[in-house]
Amino acid sequence: MQKILENALEIGRKYIPEGECASYIPELAKADKNHLGVCIRTRGMETFSAGDTKERFTIQSISKVITLMVALQHCGFNKVFEKMNMEPSGDAFNSLVKLDLTSDKPFNPMINAGAITTAGYLVPDVSFEDMLNYARCLCLDKDIVMDEKVFRSEMDHCARNRAISYLLQSKGILESDVEKSLELYTRMCSLSVTAESLAGLGLVLSNGGRHPETGERLIDKYAVQVAKTIMLTCGMYDGSGEFAVRVGIPSKSGVGGGILAVVEKRMGIGIYGPALNEKGNSIGGSHVLEYLSKELNLHMFAAEQ
Ligand code: GLU
Repeated sequence: MQKILENALEIGRKYIPEGECASYIPELAKADKNHLGVCIRTRGMETFSAGDTKERFTIQSISKVITLMVALQHCGFNKVFEKMNMEPSGDAFNSLVKLDLTSDKPFNPMINAGAITTAGYLVPDVSFEDMLNYARCLCLDKDIVMDEKVFRSEMDHCARNRAISYLLQSKGILESDVEKSLELYTRMCSLSVTAESLAGLGLVLSNGGRHPETGERLIDKYAVQVAKTIMLTCGMYDGSGEFAVRVGIPSKSGVGGGILAVVEKRMGIGIYGPALNEKGNSIGGSHVLEYLSKELNLHMFAAEQ
């Protein structure tokens, strides 16, 4: 396994020069684009790591998976999807064009409009501290904290997300306090994790929401089922279709360079690689996952299991 991970990294590293760190949040542009790490945590409680797996970076959009699951557990499926769809958008994650012109609902909870709507469901009853505890628990990483610098940097440059939030309010989709919903959303994006924490989250999700060692239920199993399905169809921005064909593992990426991947009943995989491709996915990380999927036969529709 270790050799396979090293080979995967070698392949992934070749693509790093073609990618760039996100810069629309100034603090993210400071990342070292040469970082690349991959961690696998298995149902047998083994951990395999290669590269920069202890480096902390912000979770960004991967937090949308946690927010969605907590909202489903807290408010139920009907409430969460009353004012939100579950379809891929085919547009950029922060687009507001179709939301304004052709649709009265955000396309799905993995784009910003959907995730801000989801945060709005939680704002009245669930505090950021509660959400931080969920994140620590689900990622099997008690050291997760909010990166204050990234949070401030994003709040100072969030005109677009603020525009989306007020558009949602104008359409009667976001009923909670707009600024509080935007703040909870942005705080969740600013949680600092490692590739290992994402592998931990993947492992819990691969185990249907139970702690892999103790069997304790950490999150509702139906919430986990819904989240994994939406990760497969919408988790990799508007590159989700090609990623599903090439890799075939429900995954979610973030502009901080992380990728969370869930191999059903087998393992969680966490990636860190801040150089992004044109779709906003870690360029090295996407190639690492494609290689691992082939080498370890992880594609969910693989001809032979
Ligand atoms: N906090 C980022 C934003 O709202 C998250 C984007 C992402 O990772 O897709 O723009």
